[in-house]
Amino acid sequence: CGITGYVGDSDALPIVSSTLANLEYRGYDSAGVALGNAELEIYKAEGKIGELTLPDSSTARSGIGHTRWSTHGPPTDENAHPHTDCTGEIAVVHNGIIENHAELRAELGAEHTFTSDTDTEVVPHLIEEHWDGEDLLDAVSAVVDRLAGSFAIAVLVEGRNEIVAARQDSPLVIGHGDGETFLASDVPAFVEHSRDVTFLEDGDVARIEPDGVEIYHDGERIERERTAVEWEAE
Ligand code: GLU
Repeated sequence: CGITGYVGDSDALPIVSSTLANLEYRGYDSAGVALGNAELEIYKAEGKIGELTLPDSSTARSGIGHTRWSTHGPPTDENAHPHTDCTGEIAVVHNGIIENHAELRAELGAEHTFTSDTDTEVVPHLIEEHWDGEDLLDAVSAVVDRLAGSFAIAVLVEGRNEIVAARQDSPLVIGHGDGETFLASDVPAFVEHSRDVTFLEDGDVARIEPDGVEIYHDGERIERERTAVEWEAE
């Protein structure tokens, strides 16, 4: 299972789908992509990345991708990620398990309509509750504080050129580029594009933008080391 993300000045669609394909070795049963635009474009299905019905092109300059290894709910189109909130403006991909999903779903109540059996779907709905249209990292941080379990999460909101990512016991790495930034579960996803990387650590929440990254830990802005990765091209 895996996560990828891209924000920059290139077409996001080919980058998100190719970086996601580079994570196929991790195993998965479903795949999906959200492309950031004035309105989000979401494509997801049970099965292989190559079987996803993607458009020939998109004007999106940001996107997130996911390969799912089901833990909560069978591999179906509905259970494939990204998952969204009620408005469809907030897309979330997640690897791991939200242990307290049932309690959170009960708390969200009847005004939140769920469309999947996943533990993940509580996350976009909780973000919706906290989202004031101003600071996405604040909203995601407030939600992450409520989650028990293991997660790597990437969040994309329509009309915004940023991805917010968070991790707890599940890997995430950022790749720095020139006017573009990559996100993935592991370096091989984007190694053709960037070898200048930052590994997120447990408890980190990151705002990923074309020109840079801000990382927060326990509400404080922190700096994490950048590493030049050596990678043999095969
Ligand atoms: N627990 C989530 C699900 O079943 C994510 C699984 C994964 O790590 O891909 O949808």
